[in-house]
Amino acid sequence: MRSEMKIECPVCRENSGLFQVTENIPHFGQTLLSSFYCKHCGYRFSDVITTEIKQGAEFKAEVRSAADLNTRVVKSSTAFVEISRPEISVQPGPASIGVITNIEGLLEAMIGPTKSVAFEGGEKIKKLAEIKLKQLMEAKEGKIPFRVKLSDPFGNSALIGKNVKKRFLSKKEIRKLEEKLGF
Ligand SMILES: [Zn+2]
Repeated sequence: MRSEMKIECPVCRENSGLFQVTENIPHFGQTLLSSFYCKHCGYRFSDVITTEIKQGAEFKAEVRSAADLNTRVVKSSTAFVEISRPEISVQPGPASIGVITNIEGLLEAMIGPTKSVAFEGGEKIKKLAEIKLKQLMEAKEGKIPFRVKLSDPFGNSALIGKNVKKRFLSKKEIRKLEEKLGF
């Protein structure tokens, strides 16, 4: 189901369109994807939430072949993502967005930011970013094995696929992640 409504842009106060799509994702549940784009000032955000009972959980996906790159990724704006190779971790922040994608798409989205680091950074940072960029490309083509870890204290995120392990987070672990989020 898809719907559109006008809401006030939190940045410029003009009215713009908010799109919402409800999707039933197998092994995850009823999910609401919201995306907002302000045509007046360019501000955008998106997020996913599940409308089912949710519990903080951690997912680990082993990527051993190109087929594993199709592992589905439901990532909310409060999800912590760690990739083992290249070593990249994404902490939720004000600019965090929610997406429904797959591991290939997740890596794809990291290419841009890594490129800008390589472009803007000092000599040392530049070298490191270039190595990461090369590994990102190899990972995206299924040429190197790696692990993706995703944890969300609010349970709005998941990895769904064959080589995925899921476990619920303890109250203590949830508290720790919430603190990092500033709650
Ligand atoms: Zn605006």
